[in-house]
Amino acid sequence: MTYIERVLENLKKRNPNEPEFHQAATEILTTIAPVVDKHPEYEAAGLLERFTEPERVIMFRVPWVDDSGKVNVNKGYRVQFNSAIGPYKGGLRFHPSVNLSIIKFLGLEQILKNSLTGLPIGGGKGGSDFDPKGKSDREVMAFCQSFMTELYRHIGADTDVPAGDIGVGGREIGYLFGQYKRIRDEHVGVLTGRGLSYGGSLVRTEATGFGLIYITEEALKMRGDSFKGKTVVISGSGNVAIYACSKAQSLGAKVVAMYDSNGYVYDPDGIKLDIIKDIKEVKRGRIKEYAERVKGAKYFDNCKGIWQIPCDIALPCATQNEIDENDAAALVKNGVKYVAEGANMPSTLEAIEVFRKNGVVFLPAKAANAGGVATSALEMAQSSGRMFWTFEEVDKKLKNIMIDIYHNIDDAAKEYGHEGDYVLGANIAGFVKVATAMMAHGVV
Ligand code: NDP
Repeated sequence: MTYIERVLENLKKRNPNEPEFHQAATEILTTIAPVVDKHPEYEAAGLLERFTEPERVIMFRVPWVDDSGKVNVNKGYRVQFNSAIGPYKGGLRFHPSVNLSIIKFLGLEQILKNSLTGLPIGGGKGGSDFDPKGKSDREVMAFCQSFMTELYRHIGADTDVPAGDIGVGGREIGYLFGQYKRIRDEHVGVLTGRGLSYGGSLVRTEATGFGLIYITEEALKMRGDSFKGKTVVISGSGNVAIYACSKAQSLGAKVVAMYDSNGYVYDPDGIKLDIIKDIKEVKRGRIKEYAERVKGAKYFDNCKGIWQIPCDIALPCATQNEIDENDAAALVKNGVKYVAEGANMPSTLEAIEVFRKNGVVFLPAKAANAGGVATSALEMAQSSGRMFWTFEEVDKKLKNIMIDIYHNIDDAAKEYGHEGDYVLGANIAGFVKVATAMMAHGVV
C-alpha cells in the first residue's frame, strides 16, 4: 500500500460518516501522487496526515428566538483547517444540509483554492444548519447575532476571516459584522463581503461569477475560441450563477437555462437576467415565476432535467454533487465541450471521469471559482491599507488572477505529464505551495 493509500484508509476509519470529506480528500490525494512520490521527506514529516487534519474544529450551539416567541437551537461550525500560508479564510454556509462532513470538505478544498490565488490566505470554512429561507429579517438578524456571539472569540483580521457562501449574502454579513463590532469594539476587516459603506470592496458581489467566466474565457482563447455564440446552461440562480450569467451574456453567449432548488427554467431565446434578479435577489422568490413572466419560457418541476439540455458550455453553480455520472453522460452525448465549476464540488468523482474520458475541458471548482476568495483577499488588503480601489482596478486584478490560475494549473498538468488534466494540475499547483510552507514550519 502506498503512503497516500494508507493516509486515505486511515482518514476514512477515523472520520466515519463524513462522505463529502472522504470524496474531497480522495480527489485531492489521489491526484497529488506525482509530487508526493518526488518528496519522500513528506512521509517522514507526517505531512499528509497533518494536511488532512484540521488545525482546529469549533462546534457550538446557536440559540435564537423566532417571531412567534419560540426558542430555536441550531448547530454552528467553524473549521480552521490550515494556516500555513496565511490567516484562515473561507465562507460561512447557512443551509439545512450543513454538517461537519460538508464543512470539512469545503475547508479542505479551500486550502488549495486559496493557495492557487497566489495570495497569502489559509483555508477555513464554517456555517450552520439554519435555513434563512422564509425567515423574516428580524429572525435572520437574531440568528446572526447569536452565531457571532460565540464566533467572535475565534476570529480576527489576522487570524480567521470568514465570508459568505450559500445562504449568507450581504444582509447576513451586515448583521454578523454589526455584532462583531459591538462585542469587540473594533472596526476591522474581520469579515469580507461587507457593504461598500462599511469597508467592502467593489466587485466582491460579482467576483465568483465573473472569475468563473474569465478563467473559462482563457481556456477558450487558448483553443482559438470564445464565448461568442455559445449555448450555456447554468445551474443555480444565486450569487455565483447570476454574475456568471451576466458576464457570459456580455461576452456574447446565450444562457438558456437556470434553476433553484425546486426546478429549472428553459428559455430558448436566452435568459432575461433582470427578471431572474428581480425574482431571486429582490423578492427572494422562486424561479418558477420566470416562466409566468416570460413568453416562450418553460418551467420544469425538477433540477436534474437541466443537464439534458444541449449546450456547448455547462456551468454548475448551485451546490455539491449536482452532476452525477448519468448527468455527465447526457451532457457529453449532447455535445458539451467545456464544464467549469462555479459551485464547490458540483461534479461527483464518477462524473469527472466521464468528462475526462470524453475530452471535455473540465475546470474544477478550486481553480474556477477562486475569484470570490481572491477578491475577498483584495478586500482584506484594502481594509488593512485603509484604501478603496475603483471597480475597474479590482476587476482588472481579478481577471489577471484568473488568467494566472489557468496558466498555473495548465503548466502543472503539463509538467507532471497529464496535459489538459486540470483536476490534477489544480491540486498539484495548490498543494506544492502549502506543503513547502508546512515543511518550513516544522511539526506543528
Ligand atoms: P446562493 O445561496 O446565493 O445560491 C445558491 C443557489 O443554489 C440558489 O439558487 C439555490 O436555490 C441553489 N441550491 C442550493 N442548494 C441546492 C440544492 N441542494 N439543489 C438545487 N439547488 C440548490 O449561494 P452562492 O451562489 O453563493 O453559492 C453557490 C455555490 O458556489 C456553492 O457551492 C458555494 O460554496 C460556491 N461558491 C460561492 C462563492 C461566493 O462567492 N458566493 C465563492 C466560491 C464558491 P434556492 O434559491 O432554492 O435556495
